[in-house]
Amino acid sequence: MRMPLCVANWKMYGTLAEARPLAAGVRDGLRRAKDVETVLCPPFTALSAVGEILAGSNVGLGAQNCHPEPSGAHTGEIAPPMLAELGCRYVILGHSERRRELCETDELINRKLRAALAHGLTPILCVGETAEERRQGLTFTTVEGQLRAGLAEVPVETMTGVVLAYEPVWAIGTGANATPAQAAEVHGYLRGLLSELASKDAASAIRIVYGGSVKPENAEVLAAEAEIDGALVGGASLNAQGFVTIVKKTARAGAVRGN
Ligand code: PEP
Repeated sequence: MRMPLCVANWKMYGTLAEARPLAAGVRDGLRRAKDVETVLCPPFTALSAVGEILAGSNVGLGAQNCHPEPSGAHTGEIAPPMLAELGCRYVILGHSERRRELCETDELINRKLRAALAHGLTPILCVGETAEERRQGLTFTTVEGQLRAGLAEVPVETMTGVVLAYEPVWAIGTGANATPAQAAEVHGYLRGLLSELASKDAASAIRIVYGGSVKPENAEVLAAEAEIDGALVGGASLNAQGFVTIVKKTARAGAVRGN
């Protein structure tokens, strides 16, 4: 059984004054949580402070991006060993906002992913189609291209060290989530591809989380789908109580599913 995973993507929200109470609220709200893994991904500037607040708790730390090189003349960038040093265990890569706003290519995302793995970080590789691609029937083509390119040259034996996030672009920040059936269909397709790229066993061990307008009201019905292994949460993760509810509902659905 795959352990459900809930990841909070705080995006570019969270001064230290905001990040500290938010992280403490999540930590305290999940003190007794079990059967679920939780990760907070604050902005780089809050990683250290949030890491201190989460130390010794059952909530982990992640980052929202990294550079593909371990060091070098890359002004303004953050390297994987710097994240590992701060206690990060996860890093979100290929988020659609970065693909769109910063023109991140599949090739660059693949280099970042391999660098993350090489430095002991678990990459959360985001894939997802735009509304137009879905309308044109290109959903599977799009996510397949992103998955194959994102995992290019990753040795089969390390592929289980990756988490996938299916994030339809049209669902991110819009309030309009994919239906559980829509998400499960794409997750199933991605898992089929993973079987081909790695092995059936590896594919069944890799977690595929869903992201796109996950909120307390829809978290349970999404996580009840056998193919949905948790959530990547943007807007709704900025409220501690709301995010804690999402995590608890995801855990509950996962436990029911596993029985
Ligand atoms: C995201 O940014 O990854 C995301 C899923 O955002 P939201 O939950 O706000 O749709």
